[in-house]
Amino acid sequence: MEIRFEKREQLKEKPDEKQLGFGKYMTDYMFVLDWDRGQGWHDARIVPHGPIALEPACVTLHYAQETFEGLKAYRRADGKIQLFRPQMNARRMIASNERLCMPELPEEMFVEAVKAIVEVEKDWVPSEPGTSLYIRPFTFATESALGVHMASSFKFVIICTPVGAYYAEGINPVKILVEDELVRAVKGGTGFTKCGGNYAASILGQVRAEEKGYTQVLWLDGVERKYVEEVGTMNIMFKIAGEFYTAPIEGTVLAGVTRDSIIHILRDWGYQVNETKLSIDDLMKAGHDGTLEEAFGTGTAAVISPVGELAYRDDVVTVNDFKIGEVSQKLYDYLTGIQWGREEDKYGWTVEV
Ligand SMILES: *Cc1c(COP(=O)(O)O)cnc(C)c1O
Repeated sequence: MEIRFEKREQLKEKPDEKQLGFGKYMTDYMFVLDWDRGQGWHDARIVPHGPIALEPACVTLHYAQETFEGLKAYRRADGKIQLFRPQMNARRMIASNERLCMPELPEEMFVEAVKAIVEVEKDWVPSEPGTSLYIRPFTFATESALGVHMASSFKFVIICTPVGAYYAEGINPVKILVEDELVRAVKGGTGFTKCGGNYAASILGQVRAEEKGYTQVLWLDGVERKYVEEVGTMNIMFKIAGEFYTAPIEGTVLAGVTRDSIIHILRDWGYQVNETKLSIDDLMKAGHDGTLEEAFGTGTAAVISPVGELAYRDDVVTVNDFKIGEVSQKLYDYLTGIQWGREEDKYGWTVEV
């Protein structure tokens, strides 16, 4: 792919690596690629990060033909920069775009585009412990026309933002509220895709949970509101009586890259991992009878987010005395070790930029 480069006159000042937060600072450049019916993908370019002009009738603003991805670039101790399993993000975006009738960007082009923007922005990849460059690729329809249909023009864009250590103050387990009224996904819908619409529909549950003092929502299946599915932007796993449980990938749950990596590692370590339906009643019961040993969310942002408390209707269980579990901690250390290059990458998951 030929990529045109448009230099900006003045580069931005880099923020303090100790105060990065999440998604506050945007880098100097963005990657842009256009798609038009008949022409396909064309005009790859890296241009100064800035506003994109859209017609008020742009179909994305009305019908949410939009998908996105999220991955990180990590700076190793030797100064080199690496990505973690970017091919999986590429494939997931293909699956998302297919479901939303959007053009699919081939895996190699996706990875090449990510590498190209990170290469240009390499000075933005921070080196403070736990920091990284968050990469946000997204595709959206640009056609201006009212009327629901498959659009005839799209843009694929990548923006980047340096992000701080997720656990600057140590890993603190979070309180999770089990949502028993609103639903996130049903089979046949878009739950397995990373599309903007899924998140718009989830904000009400998130707001209500926060009002009650909880950090995140745990979604149940959309039909019976009985089986545990996932958290807002994380998959979730439970260790019950020595075995791990997580929802199966059957159309409603997002196939997390972190989820897949953790399952690989756990199986390698000799644990039984059950990708199976787990009812909220069985989960709460395990919480009360002492067999629920550990609970944690998995996602690119936090890697592992331990759960300290689960509330479902009037029932509350505390997990592992509100402390991070032993295996959770080991997983966190090992996986972040691979991502930042401290551990040998025996699975071949990292890609050098
Ligand atoms: C992004 C996301 C995840 C985590 O996926 P990773 O690839 O591990 O970052 C899980 N669930 C939902 C709903 C998500 O949007």
